[in-house]
Amino acid sequence: MLLSWALLRTLVRLLLGIGRRGLAAFRANYDADLLPPVTPAEREALSTFGGCIACGLCDRGAAGARGSGAAWRGTMSFVLAASRSMPDHPAAARMLAGVPIEALEAEERSCPTRVPIAALARFVLEKAGEIERSGLDNRRAGSEPPSSAAGTSGRAAESPRLS
Ligand code: SF4
Repeated sequence: MLLSWALLRTLVRLLLGIGRRGLAAFRANYDADLLPPVTPAEREALSTFGGCIACGLCDRGAAGARGSGAAWRGTMSFVLAASRSMPDHPAAARMLAGVPIEALEAEERSCPTRVPIAALARFVLEKAGEIERSGLDNRRAGSEPPSSAAGTSGRAAESPRLS
């Protein structure tokens, strides 16, 4: 009975054009889950990010060997774990801080399954930026969103070079 009522209500609202639709509806439903929308190009790119076979070759490259400090666990770890869940992208972006994008591009060339590691890093940074600009990650963690001077711009200074 409840499902029938919900279906009827949804159909009536659609027919009358009531309520949020499209991107506004998506944001209303998923912002709190730290899931920003993706563009058609990003959706297409997402299908190329999952080809890792955990061979570890990328960890022999410049970024894998040098890393960027205590947070960096190596490129394979970034590809297989840190970058996998969009709500975790702000943390993954902090891991990337100090890793030159050129090093990731070099490691990508040695990848046997051609995982686009640099594009994955750019995607992670982009979505992390969207989440941080929304302030939702701070609110979910129970703290106040940072001011633009101390928060987003401070983290941006730690981001890898993207040129
Ligand atoms: S080289 Fe490619 S397949 Fe191997 S661990 Fe790195 S990303 Fe995965």
